This record gives sequence, C-alpha cells and structure tokens, in this order.
Amino acid sequence: MNCPFCEIVAGRIPSEKVYDDDQVMAFRDISPQAPVHILVVPKDHADGIASMDGNDKSLIGDVMLAAAAIARSEGIAESGYRLVVNQGGDGGQTVGHLHVHLLGGRQMNWPPG
Ligand code: 5GP
Ligand code: ZN
Repeated sequence: MNCPFCEIVAGRIPSEKVYDDDQVMAFRDISPQAPVHILVVPKDHADGIASMDGNDKSLIGDVMLAAAAIARSEGIAESGYRLVVNQGGDGGQTVGHLHVHLLGGRQMNWPPG
C-alpha cells in the first residue's frame, strides 16, 4: 500500500488534523486553494466515489456530515462553502483515496475549471 492519505490516517505522514472519529478523518490541504481548504476522508481506503456501492451509504453520509460539521467549526457555515469530489482523470483526481474537498472563506466561481 502506497497511499498518501492512508499514511496520513496512520500518522506516518504528518498533517494538520481538524476532525477525527471512528470512521472519518479530516486535515488541511497541503496546497490550499481557498482560505479554508480541508480534505475529509474515510479512514479505510477506498479508491474513489466510483468504487463505492450501497454498503457504503452510511460511510459516505458520515463523510458529508463531517464536512458540514467542520464548516461550522471553521466559521464558514453562514458565508457558504463548496464540497467537491474529483473522480478519475477527467475529474482531476490526483490522490486515489476518496476525499471530499471542503473549500470556503472566499467566493467560489461557477462553472469550476
Ligand atoms: P484531488 O486532486 O485528488 O481531488 O485532491 C488531492 C488533494 O490532496 C490536493 O488538493 C493536494 O493538494 C492534496 N494533497 C496531496 N498530498 C497531500 C499531503 O501529503 N498532505 C496533504 N495535507 N494534502 C495533500
Ligand atoms: Zn488510502
């Protein structure tokens, strides 16, 4: 296994952790694209949203609700924020461990690049 986010979950790669429960962890992106840029990940490895199935409904819900809770604790729930999942090559996914980007603290543009 050579997955950077599994290494972060295991504590073997340092990160600035902002959330941690039994199933989910979140840490600040190393290359932030907004004043708040946090990655929310399931602790157990999954390649991406495309490899999830019905057995993962609860886990995906936990990841999304954790993102919303972190937005509140970061103080951006009222101003708004964006949650992004990049999948595969055209989706712009560069790390093959499912993650939800939480971006906020500035106006987001639409359509995204
Ligand atoms: P993707 O492009 O796969 O949707 O997003 C991967 C994100 O992970 C990028 O925003 C990138 O900056 C971030 N990233 C990659 N490696 C590391 C790392 O070792 N630590 C942290 N905190 N973020 C990382
Ligand atoms: Zn992983």
